[in-house]
Amino acid sequence: NSLTQEKALIVITGASSGIGAAMAKAFHAKGHPLLLLARRLEPMQALELNNTLCMSVDVTDATSIKEAIATAEEQYGKVGALINNAGTMLLGQVDVQEPMEWTRMLNINVMGVLNGIHAVLADMKARNTGTIINISSIAGFKTFPNHAAYCATKFAVHGLTENIREEVAMDDVRVITISPGAVETNLLSHTTNDEIKAGYSDWKDEMGGVIAPKTIADAALFAYEQPQSVCVREMVIAATRQQ
Ligand code: NDP
Repeated sequence: NSLTQEKALIVITGASSGIGAAMAKAFHAKGHPLLLLARRLEPMQALELNNTLCMSVDVTDATSIKEAIATAEEQYGKVGALINNAGTMLLGQVDVQEPMEWTRMLNINVMGVLNGIHAVLADMKARNTGTIINISSIAGFKTFPNHAAYCATKFAVHGLTENIREEVAMDDVRVITISPGAVETNLLSHTTNDEIKAGYSDWKDEMGGVIAPKTIADAALFAYEQPQSVCVREMVIAATRQQ
């Protein structure tokens, strides 16, 4: 069983950048075939990983995720793990922020995660195996300035992950939350308010730098590589100096 698991297909959303790209490299190095999903195809192809299918998929489109996974499974066999990593962070004060930014975050960070789970869970339950790793954030259980709507999406990820974990535990399916602190990626660039962006950058500098995407990728690998009978329910990983 552990041998099959070692070589099983790993699906990673948001693999065109940052943490997702680092996870692609880490799981590829362990010999896994991969399905990489994000809207931009080119940066995923530029990773130049063999045994890997890259598909342009928007995680807000439930049908596209399902179809992409079905295509990959025909080629590489059943999904061993789905890593719901795609996300966006649009920081702002709720009294002035464009409501459309909340809709975008909710759609990608929450609906996208649910869409991913919906695509794989029934089959994992039927097979009595499988792993789902949802990338939340420290902002999934603690507040920060200008983070209200982003926090709402990540608190939601914590809630749904823990709820589903309990529901499928007796089916031997593992559901895991990984909560990174600040990581050096393109995430901050999504925010449209320049003043808030500058403040966030200063905050990162003041703590003397933040963690690398590979650190989160290694954590995901650690959780995945435990025997299927062991579920690392939650990991919180941040720079030592982060509050
Ligand atoms: P990046 O901006 O570097 O990467 C975000 C990824 O999400 C990209 O690959 C992007 O691909 C993808 N994505 C965004 N929207 C969609 C969509 N609609 N459909 C498919 N893919 C999408 O940021 P990170 O690597 O930092 O972010 C990864 C996850 O980590 C996010 O969930 C984020 O909230 C979380 N996180 C990050 C922290 C940090 O400090 N960096 C801290 C805590 C959590 P594309 O644009 O090609 O679609």
